[in-house]
Formats: sequence, structure tokens, C-alpha cells
Amino acid sequence: MKYYSTNHQAPVADLRKAVVKGLAEDRGLYMPETIHPLPKAFFDDMPTMKFQDIAYNVAANFFGDDIDGDCLQDLVYDTLSFDCPVVKVKDNIYALELFHGPTLAFKDVGARFMARLLQYFLRNGSVRNDANTTGGEVNVLVATSGDTGSAVANGFLGVEGIHVYVLYPKGKVSPIQECQFTTIGQNITAIEVDGVFDDCQALVKNAFMDEELNRQKMLTSANSINVARFLPQAFYYFNAVARLNSQLFNPQLTICVPSGNFGNICAALFGHAMGLPVKHFIAANNANDVFYNYLQTGHYEPKPSLQTLANAMDVGAPSNFARIIDLYSEGGKLSAEETHSRITDLISGATYSDDQIRETMRSCYAETGYILDPHGACGYRALEEQLQPGQVGVFCETAHPAKFKEKVDEILGIDVQIPDRLAAFMRGTKQSIAMSKDFADFKAFLMNS
Ligand SMILES: *Cc1c(COP(=O)(O)O)cnc(C)c1O
Repeated sequence: MKYYSTNHQAPVADLRKAVVKGLAEDRGLYMPETIHPLPKAFFDDMPTMKFQDIAYNVAANFFGDDIDGDCLQDLVYDTLSFDCPVVKVKDNIYALELFHGPTLAFKDVGARFMARLLQYFLRNGSVRNDANTTGGEVNVLVATSGDTGSAVANGFLGVEGIHVYVLYPKGKVSPIQECQFTTIGQNITAIEVDGVFDDCQALVKNAFMDEELNRQKMLTSANSINVARFLPQAFYYFNAVARLNSQLFNPQLTICVPSGNFGNICAALFGHAMGLPVKHFIAANNANDVFYNYLQTGHYEPKPSLQTLANAMDVGAPSNFARIIDLYSEGGKLSAEETHSRITDLISGATYSDDQIRETMRSCYAETGYILDPHGACGYRALEEQLQPGQVGVFCETAHPAKFKEKVDEILGIDVQIPDRLAAFMRGTKQSIAMSKDFADFKAFLMNS
């Protein structure tokens, strides 16, 4: 499979290059040249198949030409060592719980898959030519405000030939999240930046643009612009449809995804393009309403991000927006109006204030006993407001409520239990390197490591 850039000004790349480089030379995002529909027989069999086997079929559809079948199967099985159950919350509303992975984040799947794929390419030939650098380990740089750092750190933990640097803003990450990437050691270095998240992101961006640094070090990113990070999230949606189809007869499904950078919903939409029987999608946002406004007006106007209770969705310029436009404009062939109308036929939006998030968490808990986290609350509420009679809705519960324990406890007046896996991280010793927000310091540090 070849991958083209959403800006259409860069040469097509093979999977290896798309994964190693992350972003195309023209700063566009890589898109697969074709999305093959999966056969009807697969969809018929899905309800009786287990998660790992469903995922392997989906993975083979994208990656089958580039990776040996046994290796790909191994990779998928290793990535999906946990379940993602569909839980009935009330009436026709179901939660797709995406938080049962190693760091209790849905990002675990993409992070682990990408780590294993990079490892595969490192073992099977050089990745140097793709990176235009002289050698050494692959260095993964990731800026985080919480969830991405822990998922990437744990996904890449112990993977030979790769070193991960997690940059996070000092004092701005919850203690539970911080310990998930500062206590694990090995090939993971946590860097505590004296600044805010945007400073961390600026350090990473500057590093990618610094010629001297890139001659000496092989650098790559691990956020959802990387095809290996976002595409595997499609597995979740096939599994959800399979589990519901085994319980309900021919449901008219609406899938609702709490969204920030739109990587997760983008994977769901790729699933739809492969033939996944879903009637409608909803992108649920917090107060960061750039996509919502695009749906209403047809104009895309990025804004600075606003801080909200659902902070993993505090994004003012969603990076995967370009992929969604490319998908529905057929690679830029359709006009902006046609593209917008195709998108609004399939996807609707929602945007909620912090007060609405609190109110939804409280009413859901009182009515059903289900504990929503602030991100999932946006998804649940959008279904409550938008589902039509006879339709069945599934929202992604993207975070375990214990990850936002302080907020959830305060809002609901309860004491959320911390799962063992999280508690284990909290017993570790914090190790991190203090860094100023000055790029010269970060560069010197990387050059000498
Ligand atoms: C990352 C994240 C999101 C947003 O996902 P995108 O793929 O960026 O849209 C939502 N909720 C939680 C808990 C997250 O960590």
C-alpha cells in the first residue's frame, strides 16, 4: 500500500516511510491510496469472532501487503491483550469502554501497535534512508498533557532500538498521569518542562525542524498524525458492532466519539469506508467547538484551545481534520460544498460547557449508577440529545474515571476506586529531567544523549 499526503505536494510513501517520518515533506498527513471494503462473509462472521481475530482481518486490509502475515498477527495479538466491552448504560444507549488497556487509555492500542511496527521495520532492514540521518537509535519525541505520554511510554517500553522522550509541563499533569511515564525507566525518559503544554509542543516541533539535530539523530513523533497510531483504533469499532450484532437484531447504529484531535473518530470513519454497518456518527466536543462550527457553517476556523474539565479534548486545531476532509472529498476531487454536504449527511456534532459536563455526569450517575468521566460525559449527552426512536447509540468511554479521580469524586460526591494497575504505577519512584522551555537547552540535551 502506498500513502499520499493530504497536501498532495509530497511523493507517495510506503508504509515504512509513512511510519518512520510521521508527517509528509509538505507537512500533510499520510492517507492510504485505497481503502478496500471488507467482504460480506467477514461481516456475517464477525459476531462469533473474538476481538483479536476481527482486528487481524482489519489490520490485514491496510498492512497486509507490507508485513508478513504471521508477524502481523503476532503484532495484533500482542497489541490487544485486553478486552473492550460494550456495556448497556440505559435504554438504547451503550458505552464502548476503551479504557481497559495497560495505561487505561484508548491510546494504548495505537501506541503499542506503532511501537511494534517500528520494531518490525528496524529488524527487517534499515529505516535510515527514510529518516535521512546517519544512524543510531530511533528517538520518539512526544509532548503530552497527560494521556498520550503514558500510552506512548508504556507502548514503547523495552522496545529495542527505540528511545522515547516524553515532554510534559511541570505541575500541569495530574499526579496519576505523571507517574505513568515518570516511574518506568528503561528506554523512557521523562522531561519536565518549566512551562505549559504549548511550550512542550513547541520544543518537539523545533526539534523536528532543526537540521543539525536531524542529521545526528533519527527523530520521529508518536501522536495521532502517525498512520500507525490512529488506524489501529478502527479495531475498536468493528468489535463494538460485532458485540452489539450478537445481542440485537440488525440495529441502526449511531456511534458517538468524544473528540479532540479527531484521530479516534477518523479511525471509525475509515472503518465505515471499509463497509462497517454504522448509520450515523457524532463527534462530541467540549467547549472547543471548531469542528462543530465547521459542520454548521462549512468553514473551518482553528482557534486557540480552551481549558476544560475534559482536558484530553482541549484542542483548537484538530490535526486529523485534514484526513476527514480528504476522505470525503475523494482526495481533493470534490468541491468544498459537496464535501461538506457528504460529511454532514454522515456526521453530526455536539459541544458542551464544563457546567453541562458536570450536570451530565450527575444525572447519569443518579439515573443509571454508571460513572462517566468528563470525556465520556460529552459522548453520552450527545446520544441522549440526538438519538431518534428505534436507533441504538454507542458512545466511547475514553477514560477510566479514576484517571480524573479528583474531578469525578468532587462532582459526584463519591470515592472512585483506583484500579490495581494504576495504583502500581503510583508506588514507583519518580525520575525526570528538569528542562527550561528554551529550545537551545533541549537541543543540547538531545545532542549529548
Ligand atoms: C485523546 C483523548 C480523547 C480525544 O481523542 P482524539 O483521537 O484526539 O480525538 C478523548 N478522551 C480521552 C480520555 C483522551 O485521552
